[in-house]
Amino acid sequence: MQAFKDSRALQLIAALTVLLALVLAHLFLRGYYLEQQSARQNERVEVYRSSLFATLSRHDYLPGVLSKNDALFEKAFEQPEQASAVLESVRSASQADFIYIMAADGTTIASSNWDHEESFVGENYGFRPYFSRAVEQGSGDFFGIGATTRIAGYFVSARYPETGPVKAVTAVKVNSSTLDKNWKGSEAEVFVSDKNGIVILSSSPKWRYKSLRPITQQQREEIRKQRQFGNETLAPLGLKESGEGQLLVTIQNTQYLQTTADIGKMGWELHYLVPYSVVQSQLVSFWSKAIIIALMAIAALLLIRMINAHNALRDSQGESSKLRELNRSLEHEIIERKQVEAALRKAETDLRRTSKLTAMGQLSASITHELGQPLSAMRTYIASLGAHSSQETQDKTLGKLTSLVERMISITQQLRYFARSGDKEIRRVNLRDTIQGALNSTQPAIQAANVTLDIQQSDKPVNVLAGSVRMEQVLVNLIRNALDAMQENPPEKPRHLLIHLSTEQNQAVLTVEDSGPGISEEAQKMLYEPFYSTKPSGIGMGLGLAISTNIIAELEGSLSAENRPQGGARFIVRVPLLESD
Ligand code: ADP
Repeated sequence: MQAFKDSRALQLIAALTVLLALVLAHLFLRGYYLEQQSARQNERVEVYRSSLFATLSRHDYLPGVLSKNDALFEKAFEQPEQASAVLESVRSASQADFIYIMAADGTTIASSNWDHEESFVGENYGFRPYFSRAVEQGSGDFFGIGATTRIAGYFVSARYPETGPVKAVTAVKVNSSTLDKNWKGSEAEVFVSDKNGIVILSSSPKWRYKSLRPITQQQREEIRKQRQFGNETLAPLGLKESGEGQLLVTIQNTQYLQTTADIGKMGWELHYLVPYSVVQSQLVSFWSKAIIIALMAIAALLLIRMINAHNALRDSQGESSKLRELNRSLEHEIIERKQVEAALRKAETDLRRTSKLTAMGQLSASITHELGQPLSAMRTYIASLGAHSSQETQDKTLGKLTSLVERMISITQQLRYFARSGDKEIRRVNLRDTIQGALNSTQPAIQAANVTLDIQQSDKPVNVLAGSVRMEQVLVNLIRNALDAMQENPPEKPRHLLIHLSTEQNQAVLTVEDSGPGISEEAQKMLYEPFYSTKPSGIGMGLGLAISTNIIAELEGSLSAENRPQGGARFIVRVPLLESD
């Protein structure tokens, strides 16, 4: 909740900062545009000012020049029509609007428009300041609405003669329309105010003869006397300065940027006004461009984010599809492995079955061979036992038959011995008991073979996990093999059998050593192969060591054989000791 509030506050601060930055940027821009506009206006106002000044000054020389022409004035007094014609020709050449000559009392005696309906001839303009100033100062100028024509204009005048008593005054008038004719149609409003603050020239006719500031009674009286503005009421224009220093003014509810310049004649001032909306539209144009750029940037960012998200999604889809693919191939591999395992197990079972069959085949071949020989001998002997045979022969033959039967019994005993499965139950067996058990059954044979027996073992029990009968079978087989081997010893060679029981680390070690001929090189290689035997038929079947090796291997032990350095063989049985002991 706190975090949420914090993030809300942060968002608010960020929004306010952005807003402040925007307002500051706006103000800065507005100032910048205003400054630019002001500089532009200053240039423009100077153009207007100098052009107006030039137009106004263009005819300033004319009354003075005319006043030097005595002949003209002589004509004006004596043949005014001729003088008027001269004035008209001068007017047309100088492009002034009116030229006229007044007598010393102000009555017009000659005029360029003498032949027009509104001829000035006969009219008295003694009340006009340009007349009085010319009389008093030699020359004068004035702006006002024509007393006769009702057309506003600029008047310049000069007295005649230049010195001495005034006889006449010459005046030149330029219509105001000549002065401000080019002002219309510009983007700006241009007007000129006189020393009283009255608009005398303007690009907007409706602003003409409006006052910029209140007119005093005295000013009004003077204006009235001079008949400067005819019947115009000189109502206020309604110009308000908006207080922002120089520029901003409001005229009739429209804001303008105003630049003014002193024309340098009669206290006139030129006003150049451009609607403030020009700056506003510049600002609007800037901000709309900025907003469009910002929107485009946001759109571009969004687009980039979308593309990135799309790519990430595609990548992750690609990755997950790769993973799915991997998974599928793994599953496939597992299935294949299972199939291979099953095939292997089957092959193993098959192999076991086949080797069993092979073993059985070999066994039966062996048995057939072992028993076949005595049997065929017996058939021969029995066949020879005819009625004609003597008692002695019969006894001999019976004796041979008996020994053959005994041999067969011994063979079958051997087979039975190995066929006996024994107890397969694994339990704790003390190997000292195993030795005792094995000696019980082999003691007579040991004695018969004239073999000395040596048993080396500690008093402590040596316990292993095994089947007790099968363990005994192994030891009996090793003792019998030893006895068989020593059978071949020459009479002088001692026959010695050593049974040794010890422990080595976690193993029980049972060795059976004899003083026989040792194991031949060939026998070393074939020792554990089933049906390998070097003994004569009927004595050995070559199964003893093969079976013993299996029995010991099942107990996770080992059966190995070596020749003793002093002669004779040593068979070593190693079986893991029972851990609990
Ligand atoms: P068998 O005793 O029926 O021949 P075994 O598998 O027990 O079968 O023995 C295989 C062969 O190993 C014997 O024929 C013999 O050549 C050799 N052998 C076994 N024990 C000894 C021994 N103590 N000394 C010499 N050779 C031996």
